Amino acid sequence: MPHPTLQTDAQGRLRHLLTIAGLSRELLQHLFDLAETYMDPLTKSTELQGRIITNLFFENSTRTRMTFELAATRLCADVMNFNVSTSATAKGETLLDTLRNIEAMHTDLFVVRHPLSGAAHFIAQHTAPGVCVINAGDGRHAHPTQALLDMFTIRRHKGDFTPLRVAIVGDILHSRVARSQIAALNTLGVSEIRLIGPQTLLPAATRTLGVHIFPYLADGLEDVDVVIMLRLQKERMDGALLPGTSEYFRLYGLTQARLAVAKPDVIVMHPGPINRGVEMDSAVADGPHSVVLQQVSYGVAVRMAVMSLCLQD
Ligand code: ASP
Repeated sequence: MPHPTLQTDAQGRLRHLLTIAGLSRELLQHLFDLAETYMDPLTKSTELQGRIITNLFFENSTRTRMTFELAATRLCADVMNFNVSTSATAKGETLLDTLRNIEAMHTDLFVVRHPLSGAAHFIAQHTAPGVCVINAGDGRHAHPTQALLDMFTIRRHKGDFTPLRVAIVGDILHSRVARSQIAALNTLGVSEIRLIGPQTLLPAATRTLGVHIFPYLADGLEDVDVVIMLRLQKERMDGALLPGTSEYFRLYGLTQARLAVAKPDVIVMHPGPINRGVEMDSAVADGPHSVVLQQVSYGVAVRMAVMSLCLQD
């Protein structure tokens, strides 16, 4: 019998999605199988008819917010959008008061993005029984649905995870996406996870993460099946961690020439937004190995699957 946690119940069913840590390989594969059933963009399902989903975004978002809204609409849920810049938060309302008020509108599920790590957990601990919370990115901590759609993209291209060598490149220190990807890749049993980046942008404690560190792009990219590029997250940097963006591109920017040492069928991923000419050049971003826009499309199906699992009876 599975041990109940904040995000899974005693039967192992998803109640909230806050982090990848602690989720089983079987649950992830089940979620991907379910996402496959939502892949036709023209087919709607009525399974969330009568349910209310609230997008609670305290931080900017393009892809995540829009694909969550589209996913909820395709499941026939009613959707409310909360935007911090136009809300009463700007007048001093607390997070809990905002939550209680939106709960009073009979919300079944909150999709939460917040600049503070732990915000989604906090909200999940304070919602009324039966109300679900999906973490859409909290500070530097986690972005589980991004990692799930990334894994789904990898599965669609590569099938089996076990032989894969995956490189994550760039600002890993500030990346909630990288933290969730590392957890998911470990759970799915890939052969090797490589972190490539300057020392100043790598987490201090990598020994427990199950990863290999590569300071140079040329060594780290050799024979990899998947390359995940990350944005330099300047909004989360406390000081100058880099000499400059052109210097960064010279050392860590992905170009066609640098990609040549990877496997011939390597796929290149990026969670977006891309800074062209900083983490990769346009020839790679728009090139034959790039699956960046597929990640966005698959994100709808994956987010439908997450909402469906969280709201199952
Ligand atoms: N969109 C991703 C996030 O919200 C990645 C990024 O912003 O660089 O974490």
